[in-house]
Amino acid sequence: MPLLLVGGGAVAGSLAQMTEFFTSLFNVLPTLLLLLGGAFCLVYGRVRQLFLLLVVYLMYFFLDNEVDHFRLTGAASADAALVFHLGSLLLPLLYGLYGGWQERAHLLQDLIARAAVLLATLGVVVALARRFPEGLLSVTTQVYWPLLHGQWMSLVQLAYFAFAGALLLLAIQYLRQPRPSHAAQLIGLAGLLWMLPKVFILPHALGVMSSLVMLAQTAALAHEAYQMAYRDELTGLPGRRALNERLQRLPRSYVIAMGDVDHFKKFNDTHGHDVGDQVLRMVAAQLRKVGGGGKAYRYGGEEFTLLFTGKDADDCLPYLEAVRQAIESYSLQLRDRQQRPADNLQGRNLRSNTQAEAVSVTMSLGVAARSDELRSADAVLKAADQALYSAKSAGRNRVFVQGQNRRGAVRLKPQRGA
Ligand code: GH3
Ligand code: MG
Ligand code: MG
Repeated sequence: MPLLLVGGGAVAGSLAQMTEFFTSLFNVLPTLLLLLGGAFCLVYGRVRQLFLLLVVYLMYFFLDNEVDHFRLTGAASADAALVFHLGSLLLPLLYGLYGGWQERAHLLQDLIARAAVLLATLGVVVALARRFPEGLLSVTTQVYWPLLHGQWMSLVQLAYFAFAGALLLLAIQYLRQPRPSHAAQLIGLAGLLWMLPKVFILPHALGVMSSLVMLAQTAALAHEAYQMAYRDELTGLPGRRALNERLQRLPRSYVIAMGDVDHFKKFNDTHGHDVGDQVLRMVAAQLRKVGGGGKAYRYGGEEFTLLFTGKDADDCLPYLEAVRQAIESYSLQLRDRQQRPADNLQGRNLRSNTQAEAVSVTMSLGVAARSDELRSADAVLKAADQALYSAKSAGRNRVFVQGQNRRGAVRLKPQRGA
């Protein structure tokens, strides 16, 4: 998604001509996005994103002045070179700094610290630029490594180092935590690197790319807020809220299956809550793989919901049965230290004599389909829950369909005498 936005920005920014509408749109968009995105960041307490937006906007603001001047008079202003070179150097440095600077718990402190860094940096740089414009210019433009030579419009050599460092930092951050906002940070910076050498050449590069980088950041933030609300953190499955939303807009035929891990309380008691969590992740991974177009949700605790649309119960039973078997036959190898005896040495000896312990769980499932009797999603879900209850009382580790009692008619598992 950020790739799409920033890539689109590169294409649109390369256009030589743009309609008046878009030209004026991209003249106001950066400011609009700073306000909108900034407000959003503040509401969600995302200080890091706020400062990234601010850094991009400041760069846009200063460069836009110079670009306008250049366009109106046909010549660069007296300090255009200094502004441009300093901007291209400070942008990756500040962007990398704010991107890699993890948020701290205390919001206000975080905000103040970041603002102080920004003000101090800008203050020092502006003061230096006022007093020693020539000196500063020669320091920034100096070619420290003659292999890369810089024409005045392409970037100064230091800027490339700054960009390389910042990109590397953000790439590492993204690989370690592949979150939407980290992706947007990385791709946004790459987009800015694409843009900078072109701001005086392509008429729309600056406005378009700055806008889309800020848009990508804001969109990533919205995406994360959505995920936080709708995705269950432990299993990665969509959670109860997502299910409720889905149940509001169902087609005419659908099937709901409720699954519940068997004797899970006891499992937790014997193996510990952490192993319990691992098992829930494993169960979720199996449920996610269900065939027949079924979609898995974590209903809550050790209870899961599978939703099939455009199907009746018979269509779904083979898939549910396959999932039940997959869970039953999956054995989780317990890693070290679980349940190790208090005496460490004794524990190790014990352990070396026995191979790693393997645990497994089973799941009971209840299934109900939408019908003339069960018209609402709520009713179907209740019926599935009742079928689940029947499956439990019939001995667990089985799939029961609505209306099936413990001596039920349709059993999927082969039964004694069946
Ligand atoms: P039954 O076969 O009848 O379903 O027995 P049960 O013990 O699984 O049923 P019950 O609903 O009473 O127990 C659910 C247990 O699931 C209680 C709680 O300890 C455990 N549990 C719920 N959520 C979590 C979780 O997120 N992590 C872990 N480790 N355990 C959980
Ligand atoms: Mg339960
Ligand atoms: Mg249970």
